[in-house]
Amino acid sequence: MESKDLKYWQDRRATLHFEGRAFIDGEYRASENGKRFDCVSPIDGKVLTEIAECGASDIDVAVAAARRAFEQRVWCGLNPRQRKAILLRWAASIGEHLDELALLETLDAGKPVADTTTVDVPGAAYCVQWFAEAIDKSGGEVAPADHHLVGLVTREPIGVVAAVVPWNFPLLMASWKFAPALAAGNSVVLKPSEKSPLTAIRIAQLAHEAGIPAGVFNVVPGTGEAGKQLALHRDVDCLAFTGSTQVGKLIMQYAGQSNLKRVWLELGGKSPNIVMPDCPDLDRAAQAAASAIFYNMGEMCTAGSRLLVHRDIKATFLDKLLAAARRYQPGNPMDPNTSMGAIVDHAQMERVLDYIRAGREEANLIAGGSRVHCDSGGFYIEPTIFDNDKPDARIVREEIFGPVLSVLTFDTVDEAVRIANESEYGLAAAVWTSDLATAHDVSRRLRAGTVWVNCYDEGGDMNFPFGGYKQSGNGRDKSLHALEKYTELKSTLIRLQ
Ligand code: NAD
Repeated sequence: MESKDLKYWQDRRATLHFEGRAFIDGEYRASENGKRFDCVSPIDGKVLTEIAECGASDIDVAVAAARRAFEQRVWCGLNPRQRKAILLRWAASIGEHLDELALLETLDAGKPVADTTTVDVPGAAYCVQWFAEAIDKSGGEVAPADHHLVGLVTREPIGVVAAVVPWNFPLLMASWKFAPALAAGNSVVLKPSEKSPLTAIRIAQLAHEAGIPAGVFNVVPGTGEAGKQLALHRDVDCLAFTGSTQVGKLIMQYAGQSNLKRVWLELGGKSPNIVMPDCPDLDRAAQAAASAIFYNMGEMCTAGSRLLVHRDIKATFLDKLLAAARRYQPGNPMDPNTSMGAIVDHAQMERVLDYIRAGREEANLIAGGSRVHCDSGGFYIEPTIFDNDKPDARIVREEIFGPVLSVLTFDTVDEAVRIANESEYGLAAAVWTSDLATAHDVSRRLRAGTVWVNCYDEGGDMNFPFGGYKQSGNGRDKSLHALEKYTELKSTLIRLQ
């Protein structure tokens, strides 16, 4: 079997085709006014290709195509088994294009190829497959009603769904939106992040080849302005957004200013990871704590960016943590041995470095703190750890979205829970303890959409709803609950006499 080493990926890169046009109504198109922007690889700072910059008129055309497909019922009118078969073909095709899609994602977003081949692309294929399989399994209800009535409660597709997504897991985050939305029978207009549009554009062609009818799945690359046009559009029925809390707030306003479209928000996080003195395995906890913040360069909404350690075990735990962090030295993302790649672009790297500068003033830097591999032209930052005794410091409160960890100390369970919940976010949290009562008590009191006990970031399958409390958003991706976001609930009452 061919060994997929660095040379393999470099050779593959030489033969890659980069499609940068929008995909609207079943075909690739340049933007109407011909505007384009550069797609830069964070690996070396070089331009990969140019991308169509969709504006208001492109959004109008894409939404009109999606509306027409919906009204003509070319997708929602299919027998559920037919829709399932088409989505399963698409999922299989994404899997068959694993290397190509993984390499596009790696080049575009700087993610290690070791991750894009095992997490991003297989995860997206699995998501499409999972929701395809749900299509002919989920039905409605017959509700209790007066004797002379039959009462049906059904879920119906909502219409045109726009999905606006970020760059940290470009294909995977997009699939968490479009897979349930399409499974429910909607038409979709997807706007990928301007920092990582390549895989979304590519899979549109695969969707078409798998049999998804023209107009049902459209991809409109562009800046935040394209997202804004979708959020303001009066013929978009639902907008599913993943991104920053700041933009999430704007999206709600746009919905209010236009047609009160349904808005679902998956936003930022500043997740606490609590290590109690009776932690069952400090080595495993230290490795998980490092992975929680350094995996994917810390560009994780669930990043365990606040590590709360009990004072009695702090010194021992920090030694183990520093050793675990050394495994995440930044390297060429195309090398399969690399576990930490490049920061997505120059602007994000500068943002993270700014936080590190602020951190040096407020806290004690105990690891990393610098940009590295500058000669490559790419954007690399060392895994960085601050020991911090100020829970209100900026680096402790604000989402950095980079490889920067704050370690805080606590003395009692109540103090740990208080510090953990002292955040405007509530996406995820973790607690490490050997005591069943503490595990239950603390996980109940943590205000977060996901709580891990004696692990972090587990549960990569589709069965668990994912989303946040507080300003981490509303609604849930993944699981059958995700279908609720993309359907209207209808009561039909039939009089028998
Ligand atoms: P972002 O909010 O800057 O951008 C997200 C998307 O919104 C992009 O496609 C962007 O072009 C678009 N956008 C920007 N301005 C807009 C506007 N005014 N109107 C409409 N659309 C607009 O976020 P980002 O930097 O791409 O991603 C990082 C953020 O995403 C972090 O806060 C992270 O926590 C969050 N995130 C959350 C989850 C989750 O599931 N909760 C998952 C991944 C990332």
